Amino acid sequence: MADSMANARTPIVGGNWKMHTTRTEAQALLQALRADLDALAGVEVVVCPPAPWLGDAADALAGSSLAVGVQNVHWEPSGAYTGEQSPDMLVGTATYAIVGHSERRHVFGETDIEVNRKLRAILDANLTPILAVGETLAEREAGWASVVLRTQLDGAFEGFEVCPPTLVVAYEPVWAIGTGRTATPDVAQDACAEVRSMLAKRFTPADAEAVRIQYGGSVTPDNAEVLLAQPDIDGALVGGASLRADAFASICRAAARRSA
Ligand code: PEP
Repeated sequence: MADSMANARTPIVGGNWKMHTTRTEAQALLQALRADLDALAGVEVVVCPPAPWLGDAADALAGSSLAVGVQNVHWEPSGAYTGEQSPDMLVGTATYAIVGHSERRHVFGETDIEVNRKLRAILDANLTPILAVGETLAEREAGWASVVLRTQLDGAFEGFEVCPPTLVVAYEPVWAIGTGRTATPDVAQDACAEVRSMLAKRFTPADAEAVRIQYGGSVTPDNAEVLLAQPDIDGALVGGASLRADAFASICRAAARRSA
C-alpha cells in the first residue's frame, strides 16, 4: 500500500474508558482533554466514556473538535431491554459507537449476528461505527488469526451490499488488550493490511482504501509513534492510556504528526 494513500486518510484516535471513572474524575478528564486537544489539527479524537457520563461528555466537549462515542448499543430502537441504550437515543449526544469490542464478544458472549444487528442500527441512526475485530492468543498461536478476522468481518457485514462510507475498523488483538503486550509494528501492520484487503474483496478496492483502520492493544505514548507510522494503521483505539489526559493527548499528537 502506497504511503501517499495511507496519508490521505485522516488519523482517528479513540479513548475507550471502559467502566472506569467516577463522575468527578470523568469531568476533570474531559476538561483536561478539551484544553489539551481542541486546537490539535490533523487527527480526529473520539472520547468514549461510560454511558452514565455521556451527557456530561457531550456538554463538556460541545463546540470543540473532540467527538463523543458510546462503547456499546442495543440494536432495537426502543423496547423492554433493561439496562440497554439504542443508537436512536444517543443521537445528539454521541456521534461514534464502538461495536464488537472483544470485551463484549468474550465477556458478554456477543455474537457476530449481534454485531451485525448493532452495526446496522448504528448506521441507521447516522452514528459512525468503530467496528472492533481481533483474534485471541490461542487463535493466533494456532495460525487462525486470518480466519478469525475474516469470520468477524463476514459476520459484521452479512447482507451488506455496499461498504458503509463512514466505517472505522479497529484491529485489536485480544492478547494485547490491557496486557501491556503490544503487537509489534510489523504484526499490527500485517493484520491491518489484511483487514484492508479483506474489505477490498468484500466491497471494492476504493472502499477499502478509504476505510480508516485503527490498531488497539496497549497503545501508550512510548509505542504510538512507531505503530502509527505503519502505512495501514490510521489511528489507535486506546483503553488504559486514555484515562490519563497527558498520555492520551500524547498519542493523539503522534497521530496528528502522521498527517503533517
Ligand atoms: C481497548 O480497550 O480497546 C484497548 C485497546 O485497551 P488497552 O489500550 O488498555 O489495551
